[in-house]
Amino acid sequence: MLVQLDHAADGGLILAAVAAGADSVLADGSALEPNANADFVAGVVRSLAGTGVTVEAELGALPGDEDDAGAAAGADAAAGMTDPLRVPEFLAASGADLLAVAVGNVHGNYRGEPKLDWKRVADVRAGAAGVPLVLHGASGLPETDLRAAAAAGIGKVNINTELRTSTLAAVERALPGLRAAGENMLGLQQAWTSSAGATAGWALSLLDAAPAGTGSSSS
Ligand SMILES: [Zn+2]
Repeated sequence: MLVQLDHAADGGLILAAVAAGADSVLADGSALEPNANADFVAGVVRSLAGTGVTVEAELGALPGDEDDAGAAAGADAAAGMTDPLRVPEFLAASGADLLAVAVGNVHGNYRGEPKLDWKRVADVRAGAAGVPLVLHGASGLPETDLRAAAAAGIGKVNINTELRTSTLAAVERALPGLRAAGENMLGLQQAWTSSAGATAGWALSLLDAAPAGTGSSSS
């Protein structure tokens, strides 16, 4: 089990998180021009040299808000998609261990049917020379897409909305009984934890079942 600091654009915050025990950080310079983004990530990689902390970078820009599951996705996702031609230089300059990509994925809820650009995934992967790719905004993708992502070389998927939705629903279901049972706060915590665990287990079982190695999807 690892703890990751997600989407941090502040080098000081990244160092504070690592000091507090984070195993992995997303040095998010995706709002910057690609060269400035690579410089920012390279600075983080240098400052964490020898710590064993994994540094993720993001090239391209995801629509939506990673802190708000209700933020609807924009339809203009294509504008900020990861450019495969920039990937080799970006990874060489930044030294990132993981690369988050924008390939039609969004933060928050998908408006309409999600449509991932599998050709772009393949092209980015070819340019990434073995650096694992990361798919943010995996919530809301159909199970076929999650399986296809694993088969297409995505090494990590970020799932959030399903965790929030299932956890809040489990808490809601448990509340009347917990109130009646002497306002059982420990039971509340247990309902929360077991629901989150079950949702994470569902996602992991899907990804584990995906065929390994190269592949592309028809979806
Ligand atoms: Zn994200």
